[in-house]
Amino acid sequence: MSAPWISITVGGGRRLVVFCVLATTAVWADPVCAVTAEDGYARQANTAPQPEDIGDGYVTPPAQRTLPRSDWLYALDVALLTLALLLAALVVHRWRRRWTAVVLGVASLAYFGFYRQGCVCPIGATQNVAAGLADDSYAVPLAVLAIFLLPLAAALFVGRVFCGGPCPLGAIQDLVLLKPVQLPRVVDRWGGKLRYVYLVVAVFLASAPAAAREFPICRFDPFVGFFRLHGPATMFGLGLALLALGTVVGRPYCRFLCPYGALLGLVSRFAVRPVRITPDEELDCGLCTEACPFGAIEDMRALPAHCLACARCFAHCPRQQYAWSEIELYEIEQLTQQPARRRGSAELAAAEEAAP
Ligand code: SF4
Ligand code: SF4
Repeated sequence: MSAPWISITVGGGRRLVVFCVLATTAVWADPVCAVTAEDGYARQANTAPQPEDIGDGYVTPPAQRTLPRSDWLYALDVALLTLALLLAALVVHRWRRRWTAVVLGVASLAYFGFYRQGCVCPIGATQNVAAGLADDSYAVPLAVLAIFLLPLAAALFVGRVFCGGPCPLGAIQDLVLLKPVQLPRVVDRWGGKLRYVYLVVAVFLASAPAAAREFPICRFDPFVGFFRLHGPATMFGLGLALLALGTVVGRPYCRFLCPYGALLGLVSRFAVRPVRITPDEELDCGLCTEACPFGAIEDMRALPAHCLACARCFAHCPRQQYAWSEIELYEIEQLTQQPARRRGSAELAAAEEAAP
């Protein structure tokens, strides 16, 4: 029989040696608890008080364990996320109405947020995937992998549509944005880098060996306490502070903290069809510039890495208003101060002639 403390003393200090010797002695002195490497873990199941020990007809209650969620419910999550992503893509690329984004956000908040209690979500799944890549014995369920990959795949084709509606964390912040103020560009530029730092730290901690593994994204999720209606006071405090700030600063968690947002931003730089402010021809009139509460419009274009696909800016574009038949062509001319000649648009030039 080998002494279990011997290998520990090689790398440990003197106090650790003393502790191990004492602990080993105590274990060997107690025949009930004596466990050796050869025996493996062999704790007797009946060491707890049994009904006959307690008496008075006591019946041991059945073990209370949370049953795993059934496979079809996970499949439902994946199917609903896929549907929500498709709808979000239609919102920004076809329907282009802000109210459709709001309806989708509220529905997603209800299901993925309050009903599913914020889990499983792609943001937290980043850690599961990191742990699975680092540790062969850590199994990542297929549904979790799908939920992690689907929004990234969508971002590669149509931009960050996950942020525009399906994400419950984004939706809850979007709903409290009452009076947005524009932050200086430098705040967005440098503050946004925090997301990458958080992503690297989270991946590092999730990839650690099992005994030291941590999932900080879930532990410090500021909104999951609201979804579950319970949680530590610090979690509620952080969530409330972000929501209070979010009434004037558009989606602070998304812009400065979300590690999955950092990944989505990286991928959406290569989007096949990123979000466009105009439905068709760009007028370069600049009327949309102040419309974005997230600082995602630069040089009159939506920045694919920062655009959260919220559909707010579309209504500020004269071309969009014309597509909705809300203005006449000659009004575009007035709004944009004679861009027709400059751009050589036959349509607009004709409208100019027809204008009273
Ligand atoms: S940035 Fe993060 S929290 Fe915000 S909407 Fe996107 S994924 Fe959700
Ligand atoms: S540019 Fe801004 S306002 Fe327009 S869809 Fe993107 S995030 Fe929304």
